[in-house]
Amino acid sequence: MRAMTLEAPGEPLRAAEVPIREPGPEQVLLQVRACAVCRTDLHVVDGELPDPKLPLIPGHQIVGAVVRSGARVERFIVGERVGVPWLGFTDNSCHYCLTGRENLCDNARFTGYQLDGGYAEYAVADYRFCFPIPEGYSDLQAAPLLCAGLIGYRSLRMAGDAERLGLYGFGAAAHIIAQVARYQGRKVFAFTSPRDTEAQRFALELGAVWAGDSTQPPPEELDAAIIFAPVGALVPAALKVVAKGGAVVCAGIHMSAIPSFPYEILWGERSIRSVANLTRQDGEEFLALAPKVPVHTEIVPFPLEEANEALKALRGGEIQGAAVLVLA
Ligand SMILES: [Zn+2]
Ligand SMILES: [Zn+2]
Repeated sequence: MRAMTLEAPGEPLRAAEVPIREPGPEQVLLQVRACAVCRTDLHVVDGELPDPKLPLIPGHQIVGAVVRSGARVERFIVGERVGVPWLGFTDNSCHYCLTGRENLCDNARFTGYQLDGGYAEYAVADYRFCFPIPEGYSDLQAAPLLCAGLIGYRSLRMAGDAERLGLYGFGAAAHIIAQVARYQGRKVFAFTSPRDTEAQRFALELGAVWAGDSTQPPPEELDAAIIFAPVGALVPAALKVVAKGGAVVCAGIHMSAIPSFPYEILWGERSIRSVANLTRQDGEEFLALAPKVPVHTEIVPFPLEEANEALKALRGGEIQGAAVLVLA
């Protein structure tokens, strides 16, 4: 099969011919139809996350059709569309798994990082971590729901019942979560890098009540903020505009160092927290909710062989919505 592989962090992906793997007893073999590109893929490719599997097929927002199933697979039939997310395996036995927090599993393995992912014509995945794809979504439109949507949704839950919600960085996750937040009756304030008026206009189109420069205060105080951009300086910036009791939620897996800040901007029972990975329950909940909103994903398609170009465009902030690799 054709695949884009990472041989060494910091190098471009290489177009390669690799063997199609046979599914293990709990695995399904999928013909990949689409795989959305996530900022985490950039962190893996750039070497900002330690010890990836090498060589690696990146990609953890896979929409594919079941081709073959292992002997112990108890869900999904041949031909059915399934989604493969970032969480690819848990041990189901550590302290975290046993307390309903499998997203923090000590022995978790992640798709497109420690397990081969979807930048390829075929992929294998443990069926227990796959989701059915909601009807009514095309393959391309469904792909970004699987991480931008899922992790975004978990981050939104961590923002509690905040009515005035700030979103810092208006990329794939924010463009989905803005729609969900609005559906829930919240007011969305979108923060972008200075002068990114295109992203600001995009946010307003999706229902944000205000969009502006992340270095400027919004017109009113916020009840919570979610930071999707990997920029540590946004943490104190968000704390300064969050009301007493409000939360600043860091949604990314990697962030530049957070500059020191005076205690007084945290005082007043404000909190800072990170969001790590997802649970399968997050996935089931979000994929049931998305068609009700309904979440519409904005897609920028790339052929598989242009994965490097897609990553470059994401790095440069040129993608409005989500980049998606399209398989034939
Ligand atoms: Zn565990
Ligand atoms: Zn992701």
